[in-house]
Amino acid sequence: MSDPVSDIGETAESASGRGVRAGIVVTGSELLTGQLRDLNGPWLAGQLGALGIEVAEIVVVGDRPDDLAGALRFLADAPVDLIVTSGGLGPTADDVTAEVVGGFAGLPMVLDPDMEAHIAEILRRFAARRGFAGPALDAANRKQATVPSGAILLNPVGTAPGLVVAVPGGPVVVVLPGPPRELHGMWDDALATPPLTELLVRTPPFAAVHLRMYGLPESEIAQTLREVGAEVDLRDVEITTCLRRSELEIDLRYRPGTPGSEAACDKLVAEIERRHGSYLVATDGTPTDEQVAQLLAGHRIGLAESCTGGLLAGRLTNRPGSSDYVAGGVVSYSNESKVALLGVPAELIEQYGAVSPQVARAMADGALRVFDADIAVAITGVAGPGGGTEEKPVGYVCFCVVTSEGQVREASPVLPGGRTDIRERSTDLAMHLIRRTLTPTP
Ligand code: ATP
Ligand code: MG
Repeated sequence: MSDPVSDIGETAESASGRGVRAGIVVTGSELLTGQLRDLNGPWLAGQLGALGIEVAEIVVVGDRPDDLAGALRFLADAPVDLIVTSGGLGPTADDVTAEVVGGFAGLPMVLDPDMEAHIAEILRRFAARRGFAGPALDAANRKQATVPSGAILLNPVGTAPGLVVAVPGGPVVVVLPGPPRELHGMWDDALATPPLTELLVRTPPFAAVHLRMYGLPESEIAQTLREVGAEVDLRDVEITTCLRRSELEIDLRYRPGTPGSEAACDKLVAEIERRHGSYLVATDGTPTDEQVAQLLAGHRIGLAESCTGGLLAGRLTNRPGSSDYVAGGVVSYSNESKVALLGVPAELIEQYGAVSPQVARAMADGALRVFDADIAVAITGVAGPGGGTEEKPVGYVCFCVVTSEGQVREASPVLPGGRTDIRERSTDLAMHLIRRTLTPTP
């Protein structure tokens, strides 16, 4: 007898010499009305990617059998080796996933007595707590214990069992419940089933380099990639660039063992470092906030915020242990508070305006003194939507970082976007100014 799983394996691999590809089907009509944001697709994609499985598609469908069946066929034709579904395993009439997957695999639905007993036990505890029992619960139980014949059953975290079905001549289908907590809780069990372990041995995890840049336009990286690509064969290096708020993330992935891919990736990284090194924030994926926290160890930082209204203080104190280095902050929103709390000379505000490099400097000096800090940051700007002038438009923000050793670092950019963007970007920029100030120069 032929083994369906290894048959699929051979065809899939020999067809294109690629690794294992997967598709994800997320079900739930509430996801299509905008009522609910899908958490399972991205989570599953992250898990699969970390295992070396390439995710080809995430498909979101409503709770309609025809649409779900269509999504399974679509992915099987893509083709993919693995389909993971989320949702639609509950006891209500709109929960149709098990039945549709059974139909897709050509397997009849059968009541699994062991699973029925197992769910009955879970439900008995539930019923004892909540006072529901009787025929409605029995029917719900039977529905959830009715599964495609021959499917591998995964123990429920809630009340619905998951399924692993190796479709003869087609993909392996993993069926998981919709509630994220249940889906997460059953994932390891799914991976441990033979159809999945057989897929996993065929895909060595990707080797990956995560670069993060700050202040570099995407177009510059695009040009570098083009120019390097003309000289180095980057075919086997998957490159993703993603602008996340103020930071540009560049992810490079390759399969270890693919001839030349590691050398190509190394060359690309070296060239990015050579051309754009001063914009490079991290080459190992360490988040900016973590870097700043590490750099602030042993220091005392004082903050003087106007247009960010405490967002920088919030960001720094978001980390546990920040009391070791955050001395304090002042939200000096009014001119009076800048004078009274930070000792900014009133004449300076009069002469240059509250949003000016001069006032930012005086605010930073004030925060250094008031908090007896050794590094201080000041932010004052026009967050809009009103208040802009030709000389100082909306988005004009003045920053100053000073240290007790006499370092001064200033910036006065015009930041793009609406009020929320400007305030968030200001906070980002301040974090990077702190980082640059405290990063030892070689
Ligand atoms: P249940 O037995 O709870 O009905 P189920 O497998 O049938 O489980 P669904 O009915 O699809 O799952 O979803 C139940 C609940 O789980 C949803 O109302 C929602 O709160 C949450 N949920 C389902 N799918 C998702 C998703 N993709 N992202 C975030 N939450 C989800
Ligand atoms: Mg449901």
